[in-house]
Amino acid sequence: GRSSSPYGSNSIMEEGNNIFTETSLVQFADVILPVKVPLLYTYRIPESLKGLVARGSRVIVQFGKKRILTAVVSKVHGTPPTIYEAKPILDVLDTTPLINTYQFQLLQFISSYYLCTLGEVLNAALPAGLKLNSESKIQLNPVFDFENISIALTELESNIINACKSNTAHTYEELAQLVNVKNINAAVKSLLAQGMILLFEEVREKYTPKVVKKIKLTTHYLSSVALSAVFESLEKNTAQLDVLQKYLQFTSLLQDFERNNKGIEKNILLENLPSASPLNSLIKKNIFEEFSLITPRFELPENLDYHQELSSLQREATDKISQHFTSKDVVLLHGITGSGKTEIYIELIQQALAGQSQVLFMVPEIALTTQLVNRLQKAFGKKLGVYHSKFSDNERVEVWSGLAEERLSIIVGVRSSIFLPFDNLGLIIIDEEHETSYKQSEPAPRYHGRDAALMLARLHHAKVLLGSATPSVESYYLATQKQWGLVNLHERFGGAVLPKIEAVDLKLERRNKSLKLDFSKPLLEGMKARVERHEQSIVFQNRRGYSPLLICEECGYTPNCDHCAVSLTYHMYKQSLTCHYCGYTEEVMKQCPACGSTKIKSQGVGTEKLEDDLKLLIPEARIQRMDLETTRNKNSFKKIIDALETGQVDILVGTQMVSKGFDFENVSLVGVIDLDRMLHFPDFRSAERTFQMVSQVAGRAGRRAQQGQVLVQTNKPDHWVLDKIINHDYIGFYNIEIAEREKFNYPPFSRIIKITIKNTQATRAENAAKELCENLATSLGTTRVLGPEAPAINRVRNYFLFDIYLKIERQKLDLVKVKTFVAQQIQQLLLNKKHQSCIVIADVDPI
Ligand code: ADP
Ligand code: ZN
Ligand code: ZN
Repeated sequence: GRSSSPYGSNSIMEEGNNIFTETSLVQFADVILPVKVPLLYTYRIPESLKGLVARGSRVIVQFGKKRILTAVVSKVHGTPPTIYEAKPILDVLDTTPLINTYQFQLLQFISSYYLCTLGEVLNAALPAGLKLNSESKIQLNPVFDFENISIALTELESNIINACKSNTAHTYEELAQLVNVKNINAAVKSLLAQGMILLFEEVREKYTPKVVKKIKLTTHYLSSVALSAVFESLEKNTAQLDVLQKYLQFTSLLQDFERNNKGIEKNILLENLPSASPLNSLIKKNIFEEFSLITPRFELPENLDYHQELSSLQREATDKISQHFTSKDVVLLHGITGSGKTEIYIELIQQALAGQSQVLFMVPEIALTTQLVNRLQKAFGKKLGVYHSKFSDNERVEVWSGLAEERLSIIVGVRSSIFLPFDNLGLIIIDEEHETSYKQSEPAPRYHGRDAALMLARLHHAKVLLGSATPSVESYYLATQKQWGLVNLHERFGGAVLPKIEAVDLKLERRNKSLKLDFSKPLLEGMKARVERHEQSIVFQNRRGYSPLLICEECGYTPNCDHCAVSLTYHMYKQSLTCHYCGYTEEVMKQCPACGSTKIKSQGVGTEKLEDDLKLLIPEARIQRMDLETTRNKNSFKKIIDALETGQVDILVGTQMVSKGFDFENVSLVGVIDLDRMLHFPDFRSAERTFQMVSQVAGRAGRRAQQGQVLVQTNKPDHWVLDKIINHDYIGFYNIEIAEREKFNYPPFSRIIKITIKNTQATRAENAAKELCENLATSLGTTRVLGPEAPAINRVRNYFLFDIYLKIERQKLDLVKVKTFVAQQIQQLLLNKKHQSCIVIADVDPI
């Protein structure tokens, strides 16, 4: 809502000036509109709002003839727009700026780097609770001259006008009811076009604070004399006495009445009591009073003075990192799984906090609900804010304001936490920096959390520590180029040894007929032995669902999605066929719709099938599945982790989720079901992904005294990537991979921009793509513009897709100029009537 102080408490770094320019000079505000328009729009600051409109505050404005929107002020100044007359700002929502100067610069950077509008970035930056909820309403246009209407209105149109004349705004539905016509769309549209009515989006704040009802003694009874009088008077009323006694138990009032009478939560006071009526009577008698208190949603433990002694290797690594930071801004910590990177992070965070700066600790989406947060909470208590997309809007707004109001000084969060209102950031830690989930692919801004964080750090002159056991090829390259510091940690903490990784040759297994369903003999026997010894196993298959395909044995028919060019995935529990691209779902076919045969079999395996097969093969094992389906709820993930930690699970079957940074004492076996599918994924990064995924999941095995075992099932036991995985040889892997990248001019030696053209008609998409390709090639040259080509999945949600890839060498071209050119060409293309129905998406550094 509107806060009272006209001069914000946020420190704004811009030349240290007052954020409000001399009031008399300021007449105009450039605003970022939450719609996809490329430019900022200028509004007039009306007399009534002078002095209240500041850079960073949210305002309400009319855009075009028909829309009322909320926007964020980017600049206040004295220059009127030259080509249109500025409309007035209608209202101001914040007088303390919501967005500080650092945030503005980051928005700007992301918008230009990732080829999207500021409005799109703003949408990603603000938690929904700070955005405004809008509901379209219709009202008369107050400036329209209804006395001199020159065009004849239809009966319906004049009825609508009359219904609006009551001076209030109506929703569509209300209006339809008032004129007693079901479909008023056409009439409303025509009235809008004539400028007689306005579409108005009602603005209402989404954030609601959490209010707790509390009970305390009224001031009359805050002495032992008064209290004993109450006791006497209640002598026979045991129910009321119980309430009073319970209150006193909770509050230890007997010491200092005034100070200890803070009240307790009504719910707690009423717990285990048969009814609320004795309490209500006491309130009526004016002995107790009820009051409401706004409380934070996160009740974090007090700072617990966490202290783990670093091992000498950890100490050495920490010192080396600090050493690098004296001359470099970025350091990559390459530390194998289980080497104790988290303790090093904690040490460095403590140092940064001691220097009074803020810290951002970034983690991939999935890691957050886990053990890591517990450890950080123990170390940093109330100073820690957790920012996660699965949290509610209200929770996220509280983190936002907690940081702005300086209650929080360290944030652990997913990629969108870069947008929080930091004003004094000293250190950013990016854990598991290789993780692909740092990249947002849909919708715009299609930004990479790690890369955007590097920019954020530059704005704050903050240091960045990237950590991973399997660094991305790009990051490792930069670290070897001496632009960044590189620190290695090649031993596990506490002398734990790395797991023994072995290949299981599926060709051999098949020949010996020892394959049971999808499990080789060594894997199956290994799991059985673990169940007996009360140890745990993890089975990894990067494919969810029951099985990828249902296929008719007679004619070979397989069911496909009607809207996408993919086959439907069979989910046995739901007895459904589901498209993993658009969510389309249909019932399982009992008969082949093509030939009528009932011989339908499933092909390939997903996590659901593996879970089922295991129940059959090892009936005594307790099996848990972890994939998108079983972790949709906020707490389901945590429940699975808890079950594993407390030994209620023998075998965990899961997708790549199981590879993310868990630390389970008792896991001694990891099985990889199908290496080959990962290796043969058609992408230049498939070797890197495979190395990372398998090494990470292998790292879950044997993290304590005993050596863990990892079995990798494959038809290609001699593949070079597997060889490097088995030997825990990241550097060997990197050396081969980087040579390939250089040879074919892939990142990090080039930058890729992927442009996708979408249309419901294939030829339209293709024609637009061809034209764009030719136009781009005129300036960039044909070797840098590849395509257009239909991607492997060339139809999604009824849209046909064509891709163009731009490969831009790092050294030779100015990337900023290239992007400006690309943006211009896309705009040009869409100006052409032929292509207007196309959707064009640019993805910078796609992964
Ligand atoms: P990584 O993130 O590098 O895979 P972790 O930080 O999870 O490794 O550490 C692995 C295990 O070793 C954890 O259980 C952690 O609690 C323990 N550990 C690491 N460093 C220390 C230390 N200095 N003192 C006590 N325990 C440690
Ligand atoms: Zn058939
Ligand atoms: Zn689909």
